[in-house]
Amino acid sequence: STLVRSLVKKRVPLQMGRMCYSSVPSTKLFIDGKFVESKSSDWLDIHNPATNEVIGRVPKATQEEMLAAVDSCSQAYKTWSETSVLARQQIFFRYQQLIKDNIKELAKLITLEQGKTLADAEGDVFRGLQVVEHTCSVTSLMLGETLPSLTKDMDTYTYRLPIGVCAGIAPFNFPAMIPLWMFPMGMVCGNTYLLKPSERVPGCAMLLAKLLQDAGAPDGTLNVIHGQHDAVNFICDHPAIKAISFVGSNQAGEYIYERGSKNGKRVQSNMGAKNHGVVMPDANKENTLNQLVGAAFGAAGQRCMALSTAILIGEARDWLPELVERDQPGADVGPLISPQAKERVNSLIQTGVEEGAKVLLDGRDVKVKGYENGNFVGPTIIGNVTTDMTCYKEEIFGPVLVVLEAESLDDAIEIVNSNPYGNGTAIFTTNGAAARKYSHEVDVGQIGVNVPIPVPLPMFSFTGSRGSFRGDTNFYGKQGIQFYTQIKTITSQWKAEDATLKSPAVTMPT
Ligand code: NAD
Repeated sequence: STLVRSLVKKRVPLQMGRMCYSSVPSTKLFIDGKFVESKSSDWLDIHNPATNEVIGRVPKATQEEMLAAVDSCSQAYKTWSETSVLARQQIFFRYQQLIKDNIKELAKLITLEQGKTLADAEGDVFRGLQVVEHTCSVTSLMLGETLPSLTKDMDTYTYRLPIGVCAGIAPFNFPAMIPLWMFPMGMVCGNTYLLKPSERVPGCAMLLAKLLQDAGAPDGTLNVIHGQHDAVNFICDHPAIKAISFVGSNQAGEYIYERGSKNGKRVQSNMGAKNHGVVMPDANKENTLNQLVGAAFGAAGQRCMALSTAILIGEARDWLPELVERDQPGADVGPLISPQAKERVNSLIQTGVEEGAKVLLDGRDVKVKGYENGNFVGPTIIGNVTTDMTCYKEEIFGPVLVVLEAESLDDAIEIVNSNPYGNGTAIFTTNGAAARKYSHEVDVGQIGVNVPIPVPLPMFSFTGSRGSFRGDTNFYGKQGIQFYTQIKTITSQWKAEDATLKSPAVTMPT
């Protein structure tokens, strides 16, 4: 809205490291503790998805700027990695408070650039904030192991140590939460961090960087660059960068995993999804239908954990008309990120029509008063879908629910396990045995039982699997600490003077 835009613009020079440039604010780089204007001649426009107005510009950072950012990380690493863990923890205690104090401001930036509703944008910040709060447990999370008296006077102990400069490459759909999955965990472990936010939604990440500086993070511990392929290749290739965290599409994620790994880096890559909601006939109908609709259409379906596919089993097949009726006029569904995304979603709906499915609720012609140029697609439900159809095989990433039918739970499990993605799934049932069977037999990383979007809280880890993940250790939780640390094992022997070896020992000790 105009209010949001004017508020944001007013605060820009003070808070976000932006300044006015050819009538729209330009996004700065954050290098060595300073918000600097890029010297790049190559800039991308940032649009408000609700209107398609250009609301800002973001640079494709030059090689020189990217090198300066990594050098800054490398320099800062020397002192940051030796800073006491308690001092690092204190910075993140202050950071979580500053995020809370600025949650409305962060949410406005998300709504402006990404399009999700303000309430949903606050949720985006809140879920990232929970990860920051969890990083404050670093003093327990980073504990090593010890075993005394392995032989006489000999003890072994391990340290978890940082690995160096780490980098994060983020997607557009969670401008706060996903960057906050990355640098706080990496930095609290003693690493320094190079962040490349999505070029479509850089504003929120810049404010997050400013707040971290205000919390006391020393210059160079976090650097932020912008760009697309060149910036990504730079991160994959620069020898000082030891680990890459990526979240986004399969096309980018598989490429980054391969290129980064080939260069000897650790890579964790969270990618696309097709999440199934399996509805048993014994489920609580009212609850289930409401949950399905919320999880399919919330955030306009632009969530990697959106429940984009329903499988109705047995008599639950009769619930389809009621599912369609759940759509309420005036539902709080924001626009898609771009006109191209809208075009793609509409054409995927059309493939359903052409391949024999039935569009039971059609959001393609939706018009939002006052926002006629926005990238809106209304909630859409496609019935009669089979697994060979394009609208089933592709990740749609829009407010579209495709509905399949199955005779039995076994048939549903077969469908889910034949799909290449393994991000999330949910079963709706009042039968514990069915829930247990489903949870144990589906090959999917995150399973909800009567929970439509089972994203684990940060004391656990985000455990997508199969086609939705590449790497060995997942994001946040214990797995996140493991990703951002390496182990050193020390075996020491302190003998009393009279126990000195009398001669050299050349055989393996047993
Ligand atoms: P995207 O892959 O287009 O962009 C992600 C990042 O990669 C951006 O920073 C972008 O600059 C860069 N990039 C884009 N294309 C690239 C290419 N060809 N080569 C190298 N780098 C490239 O993803 P997006 O559209 O921003 O995000 C949506 C996707 O992210 C969906 O597929 C969604 O399922 C997925 N996602 C997954 C998770 C998860 O945890 N599994 C979470 C959120 C989003």
